[in-house]
Amino acid sequence: MYNPSISELRKFLESYVAEEPARLNHGGWWRKPLLVSAPVDQRFDVLTEIAMDEHLHPRDLLKTAKSVVVFFIPFVKELIKENRSGKRPCRNWGLAYVETNDLINRAGEAIADFLKTAGYASGLTPATHNFDERRLMARWSHKHLAHLAGLGRFGVHFMLITPAGVCGRFGSLVTEADLGDNPLMDDPEACLLKAGKKCGKCIERCPVNALTENGFDRRKCWDRLNENLHTLDYYADLPSTTHVCGKCNTMLPCSFINPVKQEMFSS
Ligand code: SF4
Ligand code: SF4
Repeated sequence: MYNPSISELRKFLESYVAEEPARLNHGGWWRKPLLVSAPVDQRFDVLTEIAMDEHLHPRDLLKTAKSVVVFFIPFVKELIKENRSGKRPCRNWGLAYVETNDLINRAGEAIADFLKTAGYASGLTPATHNFDERRLMARWSHKHLAHLAGLGRFGVHFMLITPAGVCGRFGSLVTEADLGDNPLMDDPEACLLKAGKKCGKCIERCPVNALTENGFDRRKCWDRLNENLHTLDYYADLPSTTHVCGKCNTMLPCSFINPVKQEMFSS
């Protein structure tokens, strides 16, 4: 049976994202996406320890899964700059969140269809809100999967820093196709503070003090996201799942790059 390669999948996703602005009839919010794959091996057994005790295993999505595919769609600099000022997220930050989640869901399905034509089934979950509302933890965490598959490393802000930085959104799927191990990051840390260098700018930036060097108060953060959604007039027409802020990741050392490596991703 024909086995699609990682470069074919990467090109497929790049084209899919590149076509989105024309479909939406505006300039779009996205830079070139990143995509990695990893075999379904014992590394994913730790998900219930590092992410959440009820986290699903890749084989819970598809019993015959051989690979995990995780992708990241980074935002353009203009959007990230726009969200820098003030203590509340801008209108476009919310709109980009909504349109990116929709794009991620469709892109995931398109990748699954692409793999299906080669004879491989896939399993998918939504881009967001697949989590326990009480514990504020995801049962399918794209970020933890991305970490295990070598797409990024967690920063002090509990977001994942990829080779294209932290501002953007993740999607993932599992598939029967044997795609191999294709990470984009093997550095132990991508956060300056975690790598023993000076930073902590994300901690200073949080308007509700939800971040410290060693912890993240999920409840404080979640309350702020809800407050933004329910009090900002310019979010009134956006879906009830538009939980955004972004102040701890816009225009910071890790916004666009892996700051420990100090290299702009350019492949
Ligand atoms: S702003 Fe600095 S301390 Fe915070 S996650 Fe980014 S690199 Fe780490
Ligand atoms: S998203 Fe906003 S509220 Fe949550 S930790 Fe970051 S800056 Fe704080």
